[in-house]
Formats: sequence, structure tokens, C-alpha cells
Amino acid sequence: MNFNYYIPTKILFGKGQLANLHNQNLPGKKALIVISSGKSTKSNGYLARVEEQLDLAGASYAVFDKILPNPIKKHVMEGAAFAKKEGCDFVLGLGGGSSIDAAKGIAVMVTNEGDYWDYVSGGSGKGKPVPNSPLPIVAVTTTAGTGTEADPWTVTTKEDTNEKIGFGYEKTFPVLSIVDPDLMLTVPAQLTAYQGFDALFHSTEGYITKTANAISDIFALKAIELIGKSLTAAVKDGANEQARADVALANTLSGMVESTSSCSSEHSLEHALSAFHHDLPHGAGLIMISKAYYTFFVKAGACNERMIDMAKALGKSNAATAMDFVEALAELQTACGVDNLKMSDYGINSDDLRKYAKNARETMGGLFEIDPAPISEDDCVEIYQKSYK
Ligand SMILES: [Zn+2]
Repeated sequence: MNFNYYIPTKILFGKGQLANLHNQNLPGKKALIVISSGKSTKSNGYLARVEEQLDLAGASYAVFDKILPNPIKKHVMEGAAFAKKEGCDFVLGLGGGSSIDAAKGIAVMVTNEGDYWDYVSGGSGKGKPVPNSPLPIVAVTTTAGTGTEADPWTVTTKEDTNEKIGFGYEKTFPVLSIVDPDLMLTVPAQLTAYQGFDALFHSTEGYITKTANAISDIFALKAIELIGKSLTAAVKDGANEQARADVALANTLSGMVESTSSCSSEHSLEHALSAFHHDLPHGAGLIMISKAYYTFFVKAGACNERMIDMAKALGKSNAATAMDFVEALAELQTACGVDNLKMSDYGINSDDLRKYAKNARETMGGLFEIDPAPISEDDCVEIYQKSYK
């Protein structure tokens, strides 16, 4: 039994925890606050509350508010230039996964020369080692999706080449993360479902890959159980505090799965879609391909016992076959109203499926190597075809 465990993030979890930000030992004197280009972080009062906390802590700040739902490299570079100009010495990502992921990329580029893609591995990235430590990162989450508050990963799209690639290493873990489910009460139902399934897949992928281990299994099964228990309730009634807290915890645990195991090629296959179609929410893309993806492994007979474990964790207590997991997944998608998402609604053309298969393998090929069974390019095309509507 081998595993490496390293999650160096101080996490404040629970209702009302944002109010404790000012008591913390902040990692600098001036924050670059990174938020999305949308209105909600401001209109819900979250930005003002974070600014108030920084004021109480005696820290100053500058706000960078350009991040798109699928963050792009251009904004990582712009944010880093802005942070340098403002003299910021730490970065605070406030919002969903995109704002916090972008904060991580910006933190790297404030202290390092060249282009962000110099340090990214995969696709046209040069994969150089990062010479200087990034600025310290603080994460304040307002959604329950990517788990980025408890992992080192950041996902960015290079716009001109349609490459959407994950990056991260030991120094891109946040030093401090605040997960306050009260900040998630305003997330609309559909987004709650997309993000909840993203969290679920971080755990289900991490549970079936070759990198799964004794520690990641504990986080994964508990996260899957919490999603099975409470995601539908959080989608149906956004004001349900208990359901929001369960899904928030599932998301943080799923980030820990990403830190101790890994995503599988389901994420490579989705990134290829949203790299070309920036309007496609990451979670929605994952949902679209998920049934065909897990059915592939059922047919390959690659991880039957683990599929049964996951079906039971999702709530199918009498699960006896691997296919019971796919059925449990389908039932949860129906309950959350996301069982009929269509690729065609996002401009994905059925003639292009091989293009996405090639992109997935070229940009995020590493994840295919840890899948429980080999998936060829033709298999990828078939998974897309079976998922296409
Ligand atoms: Zn994801």
C-alpha cells in the first residue's frame, strides 16, 4: 500500500466562516482580489464582505474582475501585470472555481517571467519548471464544484489554439481556504446541479483510476455519499442550508481526492469540448458524456467492485453489478433535471467528434494513462457518439 499525502491548506469550513477571515494570519499586506466578470459577486454583497474583512485585518487590496466562466490565458497574464503594478503580495480568489483557478495562475505569473504557457505541460505548453514560488493564494468559494480550494489545480484555456489544460504543483495549493455554505445559497438551481456533478466526478474518477489509494478512497466515498444524499435537495431548494452544507463538504472532499488521487480521462474528454465551446459549462459537459463513459468501463470489466462501491455510496444500497452505478448516476441526473442536456445546444457538431477525441488525447493525454482500462481514440469517438444529442 503506497500513497503520498500532502494537502497544506488551512481550511475554515462551515456556516458563517467568512466572518473569521480577518482573524487569520494573512499571507501578505495587499491582496489582488480576483473575481468573475459577472455581476453576482458584487450584487450578492460577497465582494463587499471580503473587502470589509481585509479592512478589519489591516490589509489593502485591488480588484481584478475580468474572469470568464472558462478562464482564458489572456486574463491570467493581464491579472498578473495588474497585480505587479498595484504591488500586491498575495492573491485572493473569490467566487467559483474559475475565479480561484485564475487566482492561482495569476499568482504564478506575478513572480515568474515569460508566458503562462511556458509552464503548462500538454499540448503546445512548454512544460518548463517554475523557477520562483508563486504569491500565496487565499480562496473564498461561493460555489460547490471544482474543489480548487483543497487542491493545487487550475484549469485555463489558451484561446487561439483551443487548448484547455490543467496545471498545478505543490506551491499552487491555497494557503488558506474559506468554505462558507451561506455564500452558496444564491447559486441558481441549474448551476448547482452542474457544479455538484463536477464534484461528484472528481470523486468517482479518483476512485477508479490507477492512482486511487487508501486515503483518496476515504474522501471519495464520503463525497459520493454526500452528493447522493443531498444534491437533489440543494438543486430543488437552494435555501436548504443542510443540503448546501453537505454538497459544499462533498466538493471540498472531492478536491482532496484530486490532491491525493487524480481525475481520469473523463476530464480530458470534457475539456476538449469546452475548449472549443466556451459557453459549455464544465459540469454540463461532464454530465453529457458520463453515462457512455462509465458504461465503457463496465463493458471492459475493469473495475466492477469499485463501481458497485460507488453505486452503494450514491444510495443504491442493493447494488450488485457495475451497471448499477451507471443507473444510479442516471437517476440522480433525472432527479436534478439534467438528464437531457444536448451537445448540439452548444454548437457541437456531430461531424467534429474525432477532432475532440484528438484534442483530448493531445492536451490531457496523461489522464488516459491512469484510466482503469485503455481507451483508444476510436473509443473516445464512440463515447462522444453515444452521448451526442
Ligand atoms: Zn472538474
